[in-house]
Amino acid sequence: MILAKNIHKSYGNVEVLKGVQLHIKKGEVVAIVGPSGAGKTTLLQILGTLDKPETTADYELTLNDISLNGISDKEVSKFRNKHIGFIFQFHQLLPEFTALENVCIPAFIARKDKKETEKRAKEILTFLGLEDRCEHKPNQLSGGEQQRVAVARALINKPSVILADEPSGNLDSASAKKLHELFFELRDKFGQTFVLVTHNEELAAMADRTLIMKDGVII
Ligand code: ADP
Repeated sequence: MILAKNIHKSYGNVEVLKGVQLHIKKGEVVAIVGPSGAGKTTLLQILGTLDKPETTADYELTLNDISLNGISDKEVSKFRNKHIGFIFQFHQLLPEFTALENVCIPAFIARKDKKETEKRAKEILTFLGLEDRCEHKPNQLSGGEQQRVAVARALINKPSVILADEPSGNLDSASAKKLHELFFELRDKFGQTFVLVTHNEELAAMADRTLIMKDGVII
């Protein structure tokens, strides 16, 4: 569950978010669409605790029934690592590590057992059809494969919320379709909540709900 009330954000004197209200249920797949510059990425970064909203008197940000209002940076990092998985437009895999190692990194940050983590990473990569790619480095993988490794990395700590920013923006249409179907398969299998910022109309149409953002608010 994601609850956001009166989320404001300014950069200098530019007001990017002007009081966003949002309520997303557990297991929902929600697409956020809207023109470039509307504030979609900023909102996603705030929902993902990568950025902070302005601490106005009446703002509220709650994820999985945990209020993030005023919690310390250290607690926020821990919360993020445990509860949230991110998928970006450019996979942001570390080039010098194999697919398997890239997937394991968030679990190692959470100090999880190495053997257990590698086993789980292999299971996820297998589920994503990448069992033969575990030892490949990112530059030895296709764009679609790289993005599926990034999905596996987002899943390793069993987050309940997955936030994706233009996840298929860099993929050919066949790979994009496969990735979109995967999101729904994951939701059906694990009950994860997805918030997807996208320009892809096909993906937005598949979502349970589409929110339109314009000029810093959801309309
Ligand atoms: P969208 O994802 O809808 O295209 P963004 O959230 O990326 O919109 O950006 C909204 C506005 O905020 C843009 O005008 C952008 O230039 C500005 N902006 C975003 N991040 C920053 C930042 N870190 N510093 C200054 N301005 C920013």
